[in-house]
Amino acid sequence: MNDLDATHDDLVRELAEGKRRFHALPDSLNATERAAVRRAALAQRFGADLTKTGEYTLDAEAAADRHCENMIGATQIPVGVVGPLSVRGDYADGDFYVPLATTEGALVASINRGANAITAAGGASVHVEDVGMTRAPVFKTSGLAETREFLAWVVANEDAMREVAEATSRYLRLLDVKTYAIGTTVFVRFRFSSGDAMGMNMATIACDRVVHELVEVQTGVQCIALSGNYCVDKKPAAVNFQHGRGKRVQAEVVLDASVLRKLKTNAADLVEVQYRKNLLGSIAAGATGYNAHFANVLAAFFLATGQDPAHVAEASMGVTTIEAHGDDGVIVSVFLPDTPIAAVGGGTTLDTQREALAILGVKADPERPGVAALRLAEILGATVLAGELSLMAAFTSKDLAGAHERLGRSAQS
Ligand code: NAP
Repeated sequence: MNDLDATHDDLVRELAEGKRRFHALPDSLNATERAAVRRAALAQRFGADLTKTGEYTLDAEAAADRHCENMIGATQIPVGVVGPLSVRGDYADGDFYVPLATTEGALVASINRGANAITAAGGASVHVEDVGMTRAPVFKTSGLAETREFLAWVVANEDAMREVAEATSRYLRLLDVKTYAIGTTVFVRFRFSSGDAMGMNMATIACDRVVHELVEVQTGVQCIALSGNYCVDKKPAAVNFQHGRGKRVQAEVVLDASVLRKLKTNAADLVEVQYRKNLLGSIAAGATGYNAHFANVLAAFFLATGQDPAHVAEASMGVTTIEAHGDDGVIVSVFLPDTPIAAVGGGTTLDTQREALAILGVKADPERPGVAALRLAEILGATVLAGELSLMAAFTSKDLAGAHERLGRSAQS
């Protein structure tokens, strides 16, 4: 706490004694000083040594202003790299080195093993669709008659809503509007393309404008909540699975017997584990994801590249397939229907996250908005495929526990 001088002692004591709120620090302090005062107060109150939390390279002003209120410092997560990962997509075509932030020992090594196999097999074919970011306000009518009038109004006024929504951003485009009614409750699900941004702030701002300036004024029907949980944001849900959200990604690779041997596996065993684990196991569990561990790869990729980590909740829905192919080979694919992802905005503006995106050659081009995010989504698809392939192979060779024992155990001191 040596970045504090004596004039801060009163503030530290007031915070530590609960006589001042953590956000109520004088404007005369800059973000670095405010974070140091809060750390000193927490240290005083809880006897916690926060020296390491105070050692960071973040631009504190930007981080405190746009990313984290009541900032006290930064948490560090190690970043590793996997590659070369050969990707053959419309926007990402070549060999990539993919940064991944994780504390789970063995994860990066495992994905790297999958990446090597994919590259040896000639690369992952990937395809990505921009299915759009959604927001679904919920409205309350007086009864079925008004519900029906309201639904008709929405259909008749899509263009008027589009005009209001698109005036809020240079990059937002309203793709369509879908409704779902249950008695006096109506959900209106707006779907936007949002250029290179993930789009959740943009969609929310646009919906707020449309609802309050147009829908409520012209229909008299009240909006109960701007998000009616039919969007569906940060929760796994069938509507997202069926219609997609953000980017919908497909990736596949064909592996022959020689590549499978290098992975210490074979086609028959992989197909068997796929059927009993990813398919029947997921059915038995009532799971929304029919995959081995999408969430592991997504979380590490999202943290490294500045995505909103809470979106792992929905992005980890999806399906892995492994089928016999040719002479003792397999075709392996991953399907990610719901991948909110960004090349600009949100956490992508932080320095280390921007550096991670630079490794992948992901940078928004004002002449071609949206292309950088599509490129990132294609690389993500291939990385998820690498993670699935490696873990599934580890099950067949009974190497899962051994790898974690060698690479993932930590001694508590
Ligand atoms: P944002 O950072 O709020 O907005 C993106 C900004 O980038 C816009 O101002 C946009 O311009 C600008 N931009 C510049 N170049 C662009 C390009 N090539 N393509 C698209 N936009 C470009 O980002 P967001 O994606 O809308 O929202 C992401 C944030 O929302 C994350 O921090 C996430 O954690 C948070 N979030 C919010 C909610 C919510 O309900 N509000 C929910 C979940 C997550 P314009 O000014 O012309 O639009």
